[in-house]
Amino acid sequence: MSNLPRPRRAAKAPGTAQADIQPAAPTKSAQSQPAQSQPAPPASSAQPPASPARAAASSPPAAGGDKLAQLDVLKAEVAACTLCEELASTRTQTVFGVGNPNARLCFFGEAPGADEDRVGEPFVGRAGQLLDKIIEACKLRREDVYICNVLRCRPPGNRTPSGDEVTNCRRHFERQLALVQPEFVCCLGTVAAQALLDTTETIGRLRKKFFERGGMRIICTYHPAYLLRNPAAKRDVWDDMKLLMAEMGVTL
Ligand code: SF4
Repeated sequence: MSNLPRPRRAAKAPGTAQADIQPAAPTKSAQSQPAQSQPAPPASSAQPPASPARAAASSPPAAGGDKLAQLDVLKAEVAACTLCEELASTRTQTVFGVGNPNARLCFFGEAPGADEDRVGEPFVGRAGQLLDKIIEACKLRREDVYICNVLRCRPPGNRTPSGDEVTNCRRHFERQLALVQPEFVCCLGTVAAQALLDTTETIGRLRKKFFERGGMRIICTYHPAYLLRNPAAKRDVWDDMKLLMAEMGVTL
């Protein structure tokens, strides 16, 4: 269970929240309650105590306990979705999302690639391995966070998703994020950042600050696939991760 307070939020209707492209103010938790200042919970005899970072990574399960069931319903709807005719006819399977449904942090990428299309899980190829390293550098594990994409189907040849495809899949990712209700979202790359913030700004101009949308605090950084082509940008991503972890109250 998290040592950090998680602001209560009113339930939001999927697809109705408006993007606020104004940078958000720092959270109270980041200003006044660093993770280490709180006493650790009693350790279970069966499990080692979680690190402060991991302890700060998730929130208590949502009241009602039906979040998993609702995510399963949405996953089944997505598996049957044929809104994008080309993608539905060329995909091996839909790629819904993976991770802790009570995570405070969601990584939000672009679309499945060939490996993800084959395995049915987001970020399992080379870019996914790099994302795992980024997560580990933040003292977290892949299973501590939630991971999903703008699209749930692979665009042929890994082309950039079209505007219509983003519009089609918005109904799915809006509902998915509304169910998981992460406190923080890290958009990976231009497509994810522009889709979630409903903007045409470049990723370079969207980095280094937080945005508020539907109760989520959103930060944008480069996609791991971009880092594979431009290793020098890893330093920028690490700067963004340090900013994010500080805002979450996690000391690296
Ligand atoms: S990308 Fe999304 S909207 Fe398009 S067919 Fe796949 S699940 Fe449906």
